Amino acid sequence: MLFCRKGNTMATLGNPTNTMAVLNRYGFSFQKKYGQNFLIDRGILEKIIREAGITKEDTVLEIGPGIGTMTQYLCEGAKKVIAVEIDKNLIPILTEDTLASYDNVKIINDDILKLDINRLAEEENGGKPIKVVANLPYYITTPIIMGLFESHVPIDSVTVMVQKEVAERMQVGPGTKDYGALSLAVQYYAIPEIVAVVPPECFIPRPNVSSAVIRLTRHNKAPVDVKNEKQMFAIIRAAFNQRRKTLKNSINNSPELGFSKESVETALEHMGLPDAVRGEKLTLAQFAELSNLLG
Ligand code: SAM
Repeated sequence: MLFCRKGNTMATLGNPTNTMAVLNRYGFSFQKKYGQNFLIDRGILEKIIREAGITKEDTVLEIGPGIGTMTQYLCEGAKKVIAVEIDKNLIPILTEDTLASYDNVKIINDDILKLDINRLAEEENGGKPIKVVANLPYYITTPIIMGLFESHVPIDSVTVMVQKEVAERMQVGPGTKDYGALSLAVQYYAIPEIVAVVPPECFIPRPNVSSAVIRLTRHNKAPVDVKNEKQMFAIIRAAFNQRRKTLKNSINNSPELGFSKESVETALEHMGLPDAVRGEKLTLAQFAELSNLLG
């Protein structure tokens, strides 16, 4: 497969031969601390772009472009791509080589967790919603996703490769062992849907775990009415920090919250829930109701 831009033709990177050629040309060594596992499967790359619903109207934020493999596909499909990469050794590869012939990409050498993404969306897309697409560094999956949602960055959807187990945690409801604070937080902001399961052979180097692509489509309106979002999430955190304890004890033990066991008991009774219920049994709507009742 070939991509053409500015009169040049270049071989795409989504295969082992072209990827190794670029890495060797620059004498690049993988940095484990940055979670570097580069995609080498064209089918998966095309699937990600398709599932993200990228069109020529879209401004896309890519977190961790690596050597620019997925970035090439994004540049072909989107209006504009902003690619944020922490590893300075990858920047010359991107600017001089793999993305040199694209005029719709902006490469930023920074840590995504330190960047003001709201400002970036304002500057690059006039504050209109962007799409986020990434093969995420697995060591910071949760802070990246929660940071995007909690800081209210204008977003349509987030389509990302993550560890399969983490993708499953985002999607499940009460009554399963994977259900937890991440499931509730993600589902408060978005509709999660696993769209592909990806084996280790699709990456160089191979990760030790299976991966999955998950699409999080942002709700237009929050699915529950909650008076104090911060307090609800503090209750959720308390419930799952001490998963084996009853909810009233977990809430009572939380240094973040100041509620007595009695006030929790009264609220649970009002909701028709048993006095000894554990947090893992409650739905998002029930956590919202409990938070509203506690005031
Ligand atoms: N997108 C490429 C691909 O699919 O082949 C690379 C994906 S690799 C799993 C993750 C990338 O995120 C690496 O290039 C890594 O250097 C970069 N990265 C790690 N931590 C980062 C951070 N805090 N901010 C920005 N990029 C980061």
